[in-house]
Amino acid sequence: MVFGPDSPYPTIDIGEAWRRVAATLVPLAPAVCALDDALGLVLAEDIVATENMPPFASSAMDGYAVVAEDLAPEKRVIGEQDAGPLQGLRVVPGTAARIMTGGALPEGAGAVIPVENTAEEGGVVRLLSSVAPGQYVRPVGQDIAVGDVVLEAGSTIGPAEIGLLATMGRTQVPVHPRPTVAVMATGDELVPADRTPGPGQIRDGNSWALAAAIRAVGCTPIRLGLVEDDARALREALLRAVAQADMVLTSGGVSMGARDLIKPLLEELGEVHFGRVAKKPDKPLTYATVKGVPVFGLPGFPVSSMVSFENYVRPALRLMGGHRKLFRPQAVVRLAHDVRHAPDRTEFQRAIVERRDGQYWATTTGVQVSGRLRSLVGANALLRLPRGRGDSDQGEEVAAILIDQPESR
Ligand code: AMP
Ligand code: MG
Repeated sequence: MVFGPDSPYPTIDIGEAWRRVAATLVPLAPAVCALDDALGLVLAEDIVATENMPPFASSAMDGYAVVAEDLAPEKRVIGEQDAGPLQGLRVVPGTAARIMTGGALPEGAGAVIPVENTAEEGGVVRLLSSVAPGQYVRPVGQDIAVGDVVLEAGSTIGPAEIGLLATMGRTQVPVHPRPTVAVMATGDELVPADRTPGPGQIRDGNSWALAAAIRAVGCTPIRLGLVEDDARALREALLRAVAQADMVLTSGGVSMGARDLIKPLLEELGEVHFGRVAKKPDKPLTYATVKGVPVFGLPGFPVSSMVSFENYVRPALRLMGGHRKLFRPQAVVRLAHDVRHAPDRTEFQRAIVERRDGQYWATTTGVQVSGRLRSLVGANALLRLPRGRGDSDQGEEVAAILIDQPESR
């Protein structure tokens, strides 16, 4: 390993980096999943109704089922139909059947008159308002008719979709599966979070934060634990990781230190698509594919790894999950104070954006160094500060990525 000022990797811009990531990815092959596990996943096929809903004409109100065209104001009550087993009632002119919401309309009935508009006494009901054909009747197939494409391939399964699928008896659903993501934290200085660090050691926070971010995007993390800065240990761990996951994240070891072994390892085992990006934090962000598995080499500094997760890993996981909307919304916001930033790369500063007087105002979350994870706590936006000037003034407009909002584009 050479230790020196030069990196062999050209610095590419942030958009080019995403294009190179996206070019290597496709949605995971469709699989069947239990409806219970489907929340947040993307449907891989159109769902076509094979049954009508409602399957039978039913009442939308508690009241009386009558022949719609029968104008007689008083009718003999022949029985009662609850929501449930059919009572075999048959309504003819001059008769009515008590009916409850959701009850099947008796034979012969064409309308329901709500109980509020009736008076029943001695087995005879008097109608206090007129009746229009079809009123308060939910006809067969009103919600869903046989042959309807009820849900389209590519749509995200939310609570309403879950309800519809259950209604149609689809308790096994064709989806793009939830990607599994292996996380390995590398660094000789690391100890597990439940240990007390010795001299020169720190606790591993990154694999926890990354696992949580993986869960937050609806994927399944596999925490592989800590790996020392040793070429052979790293090679073994990485090979194990790519064998069991749809994507691998490494943390640490991608800068230019003598013990930064990730980049050469990725070169040895696979193809490195980039090793430097003109952004701050996280210039040494590395992306490779190893045996067809995407591998992000994230730097060790906690903010760097989380910001790169947000900007690259998260959209990559959404793409693999079959989502069509990959990116969070952006807004134009006004700076509440002067901001100094890197002149030579796009800088993502953590900020709180609030609406005041019909304007979005951004306040950064204090010191923005990449080791200070607290700069992400409570942040709802990443200010996207352009290359060029290196400072922006209070009141100036800049772009902000709204990281507390669902993807919209
Ligand atoms: P590296 O990218 O390996 O040069 O790591 C840069 C710095 O990030 C290290 O000096 C640590 O302070 C910090 N760091 C590395 N790995 C972790 C981790 N897993 N959790 C928290 N901080 C880390
Ligand atoms: Mg390191």
